[in-house]
Amino acid sequence: MTGITDPCHPEAVRVAASHQAEATKIAAELAAIAATGMVLPGSITQRRTRCGHPNCACHADPPRLHGPYWQWTRKVAARTVCRWLSPGQQHDYQAWINNDRRLRDLLARLEALGADALDADPRWQRKPRPAPRDTRWQRKPRPAPRDTRQTRS
Ligand SMILES: [Zn+2]
Repeated sequence: MTGITDPCHPEAVRVAASHQAEATKIAAELAAIAATGMVLPGSITQRRTRCGHPNCACHADPPRLHGPYWQWTRKVAARTVCRWLSPGQQHDYQAWINNDRRLRDLLARLEALGADALDADPRWQRKPRPAPRDTRWQRKPRPAPRDTRQTRS
């Protein structure tokens, strides 16, 4: 799938064969995981809790906490949302969580390949342009009075 050309820049970026081979492998694994449909964000953690009864063993010394219980935790709109799971649900859905982690790892690897390709772009070897100066802190110069003569170079 090389030779994707930006219409504004007809130079195609060539992808190294090793890069292409790894991307193809990643794509196959991504597709295989996606095809299962078994992907769940967040994490499942074991919790042990105290109840509200002061004479319960969970308040003794040493305490015997309730549980273990399983809790699925995820972020929704930057807030942490939790939900209790049965042991059977924990057993089944942990694999979904693992699939989600693998998808993220694979995407991160693809992005790293892309960053490596950009680093290796031969156009970095060309005449370097002067770095753009950060002029935000400088007062803008007043526009020069208009010169009516034509300047040619
Ligand atoms: Zn208790």
